Amino acid sequence: MSEEARRLFAQECRFVFGAASLDRLPEPELVEVAFAGRSNVGKSSLINALTGRGALARASNTPGRTRQINFFRLDDALMLVDLPGYGYARAPKKEIAAWTKLVDAYLRGRTPLRRLMLLIDARHGLKDSDRDLMKMLDAAAVSYQGVLTKIDKADDLEAMKAEVSAELAKHVAAHPRLLATSAVSGAGLDETREEIASLAL
Ligand code: GDP
Repeated sequence: MSEEARRLFAQECRFVFGAASLDRLPEPELVEVAFAGRSNVGKSSLINALTGRGALARASNTPGRTRQINFFRLDDALMLVDLPGYGYARAPKKEIAAWTKLVDAYLRGRTPLRRLMLLIDARHGLKDSDRDLMKMLDAAAVSYQGVLTKIDKADDLEAMKAEVSAELAKHVAAHPRLLATSAVSGAGLDETREEIASLAL
């Protein structure tokens, strides 16, 4: 890992703000990197593992905070933005509409947003709910990068990487490099930190 990435992720990461509605988004002040994925994809675990701070996952999995956009400040350099999970099997239409409205407005209006990390469970691959988000990202011209999670549990990681990469390659806004991580084994964490740190500079 580069000195910059090491230094950045050695800093304290603090929960600063949770926005449940658009009019409550904080004023942009730092570069932002967002994290999104289906519920249970391992988003809290990954953010936690990246920052090495156990309090973060708990902060965003606290009841009431799971449906909001949570902002975590990494030193004076970067804001990690935890978007609410999606793709619940039995989510009511009204809830999906509320999620879409909040996330779409964030994506469209957010000048400091450098990249969205699209988390994909290495056991399941891309699902239609991910494709819906990708359509929103393409439309909002937000650059995004695929990050496989839970690779310690993947049956055939190479096949999954190839399949997901091939689909992402069809999207101009998608970054060509697919990251592969495990919050359990620690695989891919340094590469992911490196990618994020490169956006902060
Ligand atoms: P979120 O809903 O996306 O925030 O997902 P969580 O971080 O809460 O994780 C969902 C479940 O997956 C939990 O039971 C975690 O323990 C598990 N999990 C998360 N990351 C990993 C991983 O890298 N490997 C394995 N094997 N399990 C994981």
